Amino acid sequence: AAGGNRFALADPDSDARAISRHHLTHHLPAALRGAEFFIEYQPLVAMRDGSLEGAEALVRWSHPRHGVLGPDRFIPLAEHTGLIVPLGRWVLREAVRQACQWQVRGIGGPRPLKVNVNLSPRQLHHPELVEETVTVLEEAGLPPSSLCLEVTETAMIRADENELRPLRELADLGVGIALDDFGTGYSNLANLRRLPASTLKLDRSFTLGLQRAPADPVDLKIVEGIVSLAHTLELSVTVEGVETSIQAERLRDLGCDSAQGWYYARPGPPEQLPEAV
Ligand code: C2E
Ligand code: CA
Ligand code: CA
Ligand code: CA
Repeated sequence: AAGGNRFALADPDSDARAISRHHLTHHLPAALRGAEFFIEYQPLVAMRDGSLEGAEALVRWSHPRHGVLGPDRFIPLAEHTGLIVPLGRWVLREAVRQACQWQVRGIGGPRPLKVNVNLSPRQLHHPELVEETVTVLEEAGLPPSSLCLEVTETAMIRADENELRPLRELADLGVGIALDDFGTGYSNLANLRRLPASTLKLDRSFTLGLQRAPADPVDLKIVEGIVSLAHTLELSVTVEGVETSIQAERLRDLGCDSAQGWYYARPGPPEQLPEAV
């Protein structure tokens, strides 16, 4: 159909991949109005004792024709068009409401469960971020300390003092701030001190080398160094992408505080959280 002298290999995802960026971008606003988005939650686990600490909210698009699309398919487009602001607002409100329900039902034992929500750079620059977040928390009745906002290291180091102020205000109110995908953004390490973060989320690329037996000795040293630096700066360390028990054991031995990954649980519907860990 594309003309002569061409071939294409079939792949099970080809239908999904073939959806054009244009098509997705065009349908984003209607999808938001039509409630086609939903959130899956992935447990965050304390490495010390394996207990459930909370969950990260991960958005998905249930597309009427193309099935469930992951965030990598549409978040960059939503960022580009600015629709990430209303979409992110919806995710925040929904996730905070969900965390409140977990707390009311006493899920996770005596310590109240937390919820982590991803923030795009666009949201960081939005003038009403602080006010809106405070309103959402108050309306739901969730303590600020039960919310953690995840901002990528790259977005955080690009932000100037004006752009960091809202995060600092939220941190002062007790909201947790996590430096997401840490290690991929080439931070000037001394720079870390000026960021209003409470948690460092170590990117999955650092934990991959710890899956092997024996572990990659350089990766071990790097993680050890990052953990010790983070702890010196009074940041807690969460590791992402933990897929095996050997990785979990090594990361615990290296002093990581919390973990997230398929070894513990895959992202799933909110009802699944109580049985997740
Ligand atoms: P992220 O913040 O790094 O989220 C973790 C991603 O790793 C998730 O992908 C999760 O499903 C995946 N993952 C978790 N455990 C494992 C594991 O053990 N092994 C492997 N290989 N992968 C694992 P997902 O759900 O596709 O999300 C992709 C990215 O989309 C997220 O990366 C985040 O940056 C972004 N995102 C998701 N939800 C939102 C949102 O509501 N707002 C914004 N702005 N971004 C979002
Ligand atoms: Ca994240
Ligand atoms: Ca991450
Ligand atoms: Ca990541």
